[in-house]
Amino acid sequence: MRVRFWGTRGSLPVGLTVADVRDKLAQALVAASGRRFDSYGEAYEFAREQLPFSVSQTFGGHTSCVELDFGRDEYFVCDMGSGARAFGDHIAARQGGKPATIHIFMSHMHWDHIMGFPFFGPAYRRGTQIRIYGCHQVLEQAFRLQMSPPCFPVMFDQLAADIEFVRLRSGSAYEVAGMRVTPQLQRHSGDSYGFRFEVAGRSLVYTTDSEHKLEDRAQTEAIIAFFRDADLVIFDAMYSLAEAISVKEDWGHSSNVVGVELCQRANVKHLVLFHHEPANSDAAIEGALRDARRLEELTRGSAPLRVSAAHDGLEIEL
Ligand SMILES: [Zn+2]
Ligand SMILES: [Zn+2]
Repeated sequence: MRVRFWGTRGSLPVGLTVADVRDKLAQALVAASGRRFDSYGEAYEFAREQLPFSVSQTFGGHTSCVELDFGRDEYFVCDMGSGARAFGDHIAARQGGKPATIHIFMSHMHWDHIMGFPFFGPAYRRGTQIRIYGCHQVLEQAFRLQMSPPCFPVMFDQLAADIEFVRLRSGSAYEVAGMRVTPQLQRHSGDSYGFRFEVAGRSLVYTTDSEHKLEDRAQTEAIIAFFRDADLVIFDAMYSLAEAISVKEDWGHSSNVVGVELCQRANVKHLVLFHHEPANSDAAIEGALRDARRLEELTRGSAPLRVSAAHDGLEIEL
């Protein structure tokens, strides 16, 4: 199974600013001082190998959109944030004119998770089959509302694809195109749902926009059971722990620290920090990743937990 991150930012898409680019350049020049590069290739290698991620790259700016590639003809994706536009281009390039079948799993209907759908190319293509799965009663209504006046010029009913909405129930396991999927209710304004996917002996949990109050034992045990032994957990780490338990308590999001603790208790193999706060710089996200890795080392039990931070364009092979 291969996981492709098309959008990893929370709440609102962001782009690098003039100040950000200048800062990265200045940091790169300082890091390279005293060196000599005889070609573009040598300089490129230096940038790739020697500079920290936050200097030579960026976590990226699109909102939630994560593709699960099982090596099938059909496509599977979690959420339709602004990353859905690039995901749609990827589908068009791969299909080469053939209509696609796409399964979309919706965590919830907040704007940052549906805003990419009006720009999702395959939805405008006749013959495309789109199935949108979710647990909310307002699943279909939310998609229709954002594509209606005065919000958008194209009406939902003008889309050429064959679009079907499929309601799922939290806690029930479903078989979708040969894959097992189980939704789980999460604590978030208006509710959100995580999804556990299982196929060919591999398991992945997509859990975003979810606040965890570890003192609520019943909820914590339910989440640990949901994460249990997963190969990969894509986790809402929008805030630092200090923010999550003070000013931003009850804002419906979690932290890098809580992610490490829950994944350790559930014997997860790989934790991916996701839904980054739009106000956080690349350096701040890199700092949160460093803290999470240090915490994991200090509290490690019998097996290590690998910790990464998602960025637009990241691919993980399971
Ligand atoms: Zn969100
Ligand atoms: Zn939300």
